[in-house]
Amino acid sequence: MTSHSATVEFRTLLQKERDQLLSQLAELGFGQDGGLSYDTNFADSSQVNAERGEAEALAAPLREALSEVDEALERVDEGTYGSCLRCSSPIGSDRLEAMPATRYCIACASRT
Ligand SMILES: [Zn+2]
Repeated sequence: MTSHSATVEFRTLLQKERDQLLSQLAELGFGQDGGLSYDTNFADSSQVNAERGEAEALAAPLREALSEVDEALERVDEGTYGSCLRCSSPIGSDRLEAMPATRYCIACASRT
């Protein structure tokens, strides 16, 4: 179980991480909705496609991390944050501080 103040602290950490991921995605040309905001008047479409492919490759892990952060924020709202999704054991606060969006306790994570 995490105390109320600790939960608030993790929510702040998660929101910071979320903001960082969103700004990294924005730098790659992905907007808030996750879509690419390329100029449609761009003449050389093959170059756009190449850049798009590169941006997609860079964005994929960011998107994945973002969805983990979103899920973790949902768990904060539900009051289940800080419990392992596999074994329901409390996740150590050291681990949560290092990886606030983690789904599993260290024992389960090391088993995968
Ligand atoms: Zn576990």
